[in-house]
Amino acid sequence: MTAVVAAPSPLEQRRVLRTPIPGPRSVALGARRSAAVAAGVSSTLPVYVQRAAGAVIEDVDGNVLIDLGSGIAVTSVGASAPEVTAAVAAQAADFTHTCFMISPYEEYVAVCEGLARITPGTHDKRSVLVNSGAEAVENAVKIARRATGRPAVLVLDHAYHGRTNLTMAMTARAMPYKTGFGPFAGEVYRVPASYPLRDPAGMTGEQAALRAIDVAERQVGADQVAALVLEPILGEGGFVVPAPGFLPTLAAWAADRGIVLVADEVQTGFARTGDMFAMHHEGVVPDLVALAKGIAGGLPLGAVTGRAELLDAVHAGGLGGTFGGNPLACAAALASLEIYERDDLAGAARAIEAAVLGRLGALADEVPAVAQVRGRGAMLALELVLPGTLEPDRAAAQRVAAACAQQGVLVLTCGTWGNVLRLLPPLVIGHNLLDEGLTVLEDAIRSL
Ligand SMILES: *Cc1c(COP(=O)(O)O)cnc(C)c1O
Repeated sequence: MTAVVAAPSPLEQRRVLRTPIPGPRSVALGARRSAAVAAGVSSTLPVYVQRAAGAVIEDVDGNVLIDLGSGIAVTSVGASAPEVTAAVAAQAADFTHTCFMISPYEEYVAVCEGLARITPGTHDKRSVLVNSGAEAVENAVKIARRATGRPAVLVLDHAYHGRTNLTMAMTARAMPYKTGFGPFAGEVYRVPASYPLRDPAGMTGEQAALRAIDVAERQVGADQVAALVLEPILGEGGFVVPAPGFLPTLAAWAADRGIVLVADEVQTGFARTGDMFAMHHEGVVPDLVALAKGIAGGLPLGAVTGRAELLDAVHAGGLGGTFGGNPLACAAALASLEIYERDDLAGAARAIEAAVLGRLGALADEVPAVAQVRGRGAMLALELVLPGTLEPDRAAAQRVAAACAQQGVLVLTCGTWGNVLRLLPPLVIGHNLLDEGLTVLEDAIRSL
């Protein structure tokens, strides 16, 4: 007798609420988790995932949530994109690991070729593949130090670069990222960012850049600086788009002073902001780009791509790692790159921007708690304050996110003060689904 196994029904792109959020099975898993998982690892929404596809997440209780977070800008090509899962399955059947430093394989080379093609600038490029965004940033700093022979690293206020020891030093916010974890790596110096909502009224991007340069010249000295590392749009720091002119002015100064300009495009990269890379918006060509998050459709991969003479300044054996450029992750990256280009996901991000701003753009005028609606492409945010002030209102952001979750819409927060609601939908989200999610979000904000 042959057992009849029902094929799983495809996960439809629609919201379904079957139980309260979290449902009983998620609550039970939460109890197991507390006894097994470190308390230091927290989850935004304690709803345990059964399946995910496109822009929806199905939980273990049968609820289907609209995903406006993409696992922090990772599943931009859609969760479990069929091309990605097929490429990973095929690669797994061939081989899962050899270590590129022991016996290399074509997929790693092909990913580096693809990154050279799509990153800003037409100069000769090289890449190294790693496992995460933090590792990409660390390697960019290693490369810049080796190539320049200088020690210092400049970073911006409100920056987020990761959780390893060096990248904790580079990250601005103490709680929860740094508190109690020091001492931190040395030779990291912080300069002011451009934060149009909170800078003096009328401050231009060029003035904000000169403010940062003044601090760097006085407190560090340009001839000591290996790298200026910056996010083209501050990510965890609050989706802050710098005033026009900020990035080009810093880039010109760095070039003049022999400082390696490192764009941390870990969150902004891969079509997220309506261009393949956010540095493009102001025509800035960085020397090195740190990449991860959206690179491989959900598989862990990071990269540093940049000027050949910088990457090749490092001695043989100076870069690498056991899992860096794992073949499954490379197969997923190649499939994802094809989707980004074939389906013009940068254009999709611009359409999402138009749809979201069309719905929420006026909220800053209508709801006193909304200080600003901002962002680029499908990297959009609302900053919440106590009405009539610029005092950050973290509790309001948490209330809105919780209200959305109750209605089956996953919305993330961010910001130095935790008072920013951020939208990072998969770039393949259907506009009806997006609209439904925005209705829930808008209701929650209006009831503040
Ligand atoms: C997420 C992030 C990182 C760190 O990436 P991980 O893969 O979590 O190590 C670094 N920089 C930016 C801008 C990020 O958003």
